[in-house]
Amino acid sequence: MPWIGCFRLRALHLLFLAVLGASLVGLWQLAVMLSVRLEERTIEALSWLLTGKIIVVDPGHGGTDPGVVGPSGVPEKEIVLAVAKRLRDLLEQGGARVIMTREKDRGLDDSKRGDLAARVDLANKSGADIFVSIHANSFPEPDEDGAQTFSQPGCVESRKLAHAIQAEIVRLLRNTVRVPKEVDYFLNRQTKMPSCIVEVGFVTCPREERLLLDPAYQSQMAFAIYAGIVKYFAERATPTSNWIDDKIIETFEKSAPPRLKAP
Ligand SMILES: [Zn+2]
Repeated sequence: MPWIGCFRLRALHLLFLAVLGASLVGLWQLAVMLSVRLEERTIEALSWLLTGKIIVVDPGHGGTDPGVVGPSGVPEKEIVLAVAKRLRDLLEQGGARVIMTREKDRGLDDSKRGDLAARVDLANKSGADIFVSIHANSFPEPDEDGAQTFSQPGCVESRKLAHAIQAEIVRLLRNTVRVPKEVDYFLNRQTKMPSCIVEVGFVTCPREERLLLDPAYQSQMAFAIYAGIVKYFAERATPTSNWIDDKIIETFEKSAPPRLKAP
């Protein structure tokens, strides 16, 4: 009977489309997996660039200063220390010498100002190549989410560091489209080496707070920051035309005579 033939044809069509769809999804997943693996190998291959580098990792707050506290009640100081320790381990495996501003739940001074000044002082006396401060963000609205890096306005090298880390966070964690920002913060202004603050996410966003409390996510975040640092040193070692342009502009700005005032 004709309707049976028609039914068979439709069933065959559907089966064909299902197989095609599944194959395409499979191929897509394979391509994503391969590209992630390839990227990891690239990071591994570039990690030798960390050899001999001195890196100050600064987990924010500590002791009597909890930082921001999210709905679960776990303070920022605990989250950032967990991420910072994972970052330290990765950097040390890569051959860098890591100086932590704190390894325990303690501040560096009783006053907030003194605490920040002590962190800057430690970094400036260490001869560090870069300074990376780890914090967590907060906002009155619970919808605000996503990690973001901050550097000192006008500081070319710090901007590159912040851009490199943000790019890896966006690419590897795939949960934010935030861009790096240049804001005048005491830590970034006072440190003499390229520096940036990494806000690893918003503890005031319940979904992101849950992630930030998850050791697996803390490791992924630490790896993204690590990958950004490796890529920053890779860019410094093999200057791109962009890097040269920035250097030329920087040198020109330094050597240019003061501009004459308009009459
Ligand atoms: Zn903070």
